[in-house]
Formats: sequence, C-alpha cells, structure tokens
Amino acid sequence: MIDAREQQVLDLIDASQQEIIDLLRALLAFKTITPSTAPVDHDEFIRHQAFVQQILSKLGFQEIDVFEADAAALDAPPGSGVDKSRDLRRMPILVGRLPGVGSGRSLILNGHYDVVPLGLLETWTHDPFAGEIVDGKIYGRGTNDMKGGIAAMLKALEFIGRAGLRLEGDILAQIVPDEEATCMGTLAACQRGYSADAAIIPEPTNMRVGTAVRGSMGGRVTVYGRAGHAEQPQPHFSQGGAVNAISKAMRVIEGMAEATEQWRTQPDKQHPLVPPDHIVPTVIRGGEWSVTIPEKVEIEFDCMFVPGTRDKRSEIEEKLAAVAANDPWLRENPPELDLGGPEAWLYPAEVDEEEPIVQIALQALGDVGIPPELMGFGSLTDCVHLINYSRIPTINLGVDIESAHSADEFASIEQLIALTKTIALSIMRWSGVRANAAG
Ligand SMILES: [Zn+2]
Repeated sequence: MIDAREQQVLDLIDASQQEIIDLLRALLAFKTITPSTAPVDHDEFIRHQAFVQQILSKLGFQEIDVFEADAAALDAPPGSGVDKSRDLRRMPILVGRLPGVGSGRSLILNGHYDVVPLGLLETWTHDPFAGEIVDGKIYGRGTNDMKGGIAAMLKALEFIGRAGLRLEGDILAQIVPDEEATCMGTLAACQRGYSADAAIIPEPTNMRVGTAVRGSMGGRVTVYGRAGHAEQPQPHFSQGGAVNAISKAMRVIEGMAEATEQWRTQPDKQHPLVPPDHIVPTVIRGGEWSVTIPEKVEIEFDCMFVPGTRDKRSEIEEKLAAVAANDPWLRENPPELDLGGPEAWLYPAEVDEEEPIVQIALQALGDVGIPPELMGFGSLTDCVHLINYSRIPTINLGVDIESAHSADEFASIEQLIALTKTIALSIMRWSGVRANAAG
C-alpha cells in the first residue's frame, strides 16, 4: 500500500520524467569506457565524478570522498578477484553520505559508471554517447548497464527531498569504476570501511529483484605434444614419433563440453535462480610453423559456478585427469592446469529472500504495478563484494539487460521511470521518512 507521502513522491516523478531522461543523457555523454587493450581517456572518468559530486552536494550529501584505488595495496582474500597488476589510477571512486535525521536503517546505493567498449562502430545505428530517443527508448552505451540505474537512484533521492521529506537513516552513494573488468572499485570502497545495513545496486534485472549471482574463475590448460616434420610419416609416439598438440588439445576442449553437459543436470549444480556451472574455452594459442607438428597449445577458459560450490579447483582437476586417462599420450604427458591463486577468482553470492531489503523491494515493485519476482545473474555484479566481503544484504534491481554490451544498447523510458519509483519507495520504507520541519 502506498501512503500519502509516498504518493506525493511518485506524483513528482511522473510530473518530472524529463529530468530523469536529462540526467541519464548527461551521464552518457562522459565516455567512461573500461580500460582494456585500447587506450581510454581518463579525463572522462574524472569529469564524470566531478559532475556526480556536484549533484550529491546539491542533494545534501556530506563527507563526499573521492579517491583512487591502488590495486597492489588491496587486501586479496580468496574469491576477491583482486588483480594486483591492474592500474586503477585516474578512475576515481566516489562515496558520499547523506546523513539521516533519525535512527533509521542505513542504505548503500551502488552503481558502476564504467561501460564496456563499443564493439564495431558500424553496427550502431545511434550515437553511443548522445542518448537519442526513438519510440520510448533511450539509446547509448551504458543506458541500461548501468548509468540508467545511477540516474534513477540519484533522482529518487532528489524527488524524496523535493516532496519535503527527510530520510531517517544514512544513505551512502557509491559511484564506482572497473565493475566491467575486475569489480575492484567496489571492493576498494568496502575495504575503506564503508558499510550499511543493506545495499541496492540498480544493475539491469528487467525489473526483478536479483538475489543471486554465479561465481567466476578463469584459467589456462597447457597441452604438450612432440614436434616433428609435418610432411614426413611419423612412427607411433612410443617409437619416438611426433604428437600433434592441437589434436590433443581437442580432447581437452571436448572434455570441457562434456563437463558442462554433466553439470547441466548434476543435482548439486541446480539453483532456483541461476544457471548450472559451465566451463568454456575462450582463447587458444598453438603451433609455430606451418610444416611443423605443433608441440604446445594453450587453452584459456572461463568457468562460472553456482552459489554453494565448495571446491571448483578439484572438480576441474578431476575432469582433466579423466580426459588424460583416456588417451595414452596424455596419460604419460598430462596437460598442465593453471588456475591462478584463489584470490584471482570471484566467489558467487546470494542473499536470502526473507531478508527485509528483498521483501521491501518486492513490495515496492508490486506497488508500482510490476509483478514482484526474484531473479539471478548468470554472470556477476559488484554485489559479490558487498555480500562476501562486507556482509551487507545486497540486491540488484534495474531495467532490462537484453541489449547490454551490444550495439544500440537502450533503456526503455517506461522502465526507467518505474525503476525510479521502485527505488524511491524502497529507500523510504527501508530508512523511514519524516516531514521536513522547515517545509
Ligand atoms: Zn553492469
């Protein structure tokens, strides 16, 4: 049920839809592309954060902390995904506090402002940074993943204030970089000591409450053969003949497909909200010369796993041993597995659906006319750090993810408005509100 004060906020949002769109367009204009192999303009990151800092100041935020993370100095427990070699300079993290006027519960609103690279520019039919609007959709890189979510959460706070209401609990806004690469922006904020009673991340969930994400690990298998002249007949390997490492690597790749197939139905890989585990080859390197039998192949892979998984390393080791056991050469020359240290993986995370923040968000969705449903991510979000490192019950809740990471990424304006309302209701009900004495 929506009370009179809440209705006032929702009415303001309806009457001011253009402001939400304008803010999203302003955020999109900063080209905050996650650094990968191509150079990026770090000034865009700095300007984005200066812009957000101004907004937070106007909203009454205090103690606005703008800082850079030093990856090498981060604490790196197992499952934290820390990559100490990553350069996070000139990609500021911003954390601001809006002090509550009472003793209400505190809340973190977290959003990443980095966006993935554009891909092939010729596949875009809209300017990726202009926020063009066609048929109720706003287009651009980051519209749904996730500057739309950042615009919705900032505007939700603004409309609550404009309705003459003050929140009783502290609100912490965290605007972070590098989620698309390492998730170390949010980890750095967690390690700086920022915490709250719950957190909302408006990552795209198609207007459902996201309570579970899979964990992620990468690794490399090196398969050895034995070199020889590719145009000469070869005796059996036991007689000293050459062995083709590409052919042997195929066994390993087939083994990965078999493992994925087995996990699809294995009872301990079934989770109500996220898909079962998988392992897929993503990069392959091998061979040296077109008339030489290749002696070495490296296969990089990506592996995702459900919450509750205890020991992914031994599962992968067993699969690889089974592949090797079925091949006379590999039995004598087993492939080498490099999984990095446990700090290189990102553990999965989930929160109980009975957590009050989950229930409040579900109720808020229902109150704005959207069927209240839970969802899980096949991939993961910064919620892993808020949940696993800081032990904060954290949900994801945002617009549709369908066009994320692709050309012509968009957000539906209708969803953007509904999201702003849902977040506003969730904030008010979590934190508690009172009428501004002055207003
Ligand atoms: Zn995202």
